[in-house]
Amino acid sequence: MPWPSEIPPRNQAPRSERIAQQSRLASWRKPPRRIETTECITCDTCLRHCPPEFGAIFDRGLDVVIVPELCSGCPACVVVCPVDCIYVDEDWRPSTDDVWSLVELTDRAGAAPAPTPRVP
Ligand code: SF4
Ligand code: SF4
Repeated sequence: MPWPSEIPPRNQAPRSERIAQQSRLASWRKPPRRIETTECITCDTCLRHCPPEFGAIFDRGLDVVIVPELCSGCPACVVVCPVDCIYVDEDWRPSTDDVWSLVELTDRAGAAPAPTPRVP
């Protein structure tokens, strides 16, 4: 579960707004997480446990990724990963356009994201 302080108040940049601005909430003090693809077994457990208000994890078919701009750094995914391959990403870089295209597919009029579809 996310720490209560990491959940954005309703009047502060909901997920859809963070997607539109392609930026993290300034109030998030923890760095985002990243998945080490060489260790990940693509089981999607983390994806199912990332709280919908963040919706930061995406299965791209060949790999599972965390979008740092949407990741609050709450440890919900970390504690459920069976192989401990989710790490703090102090040196995260802005997501690329192809990642944002995938993200936008899940952002339906501000609704909570549906489970990320597998990309064939
Ligand atoms: S730490 Fe994991 S569960 Fe928490 S917001 Fe980031 S990706 Fe989602
Ligand atoms: S829970 Fe761990 S092993 Fe499974 S998809 Fe997520 S990062 Fe990969």
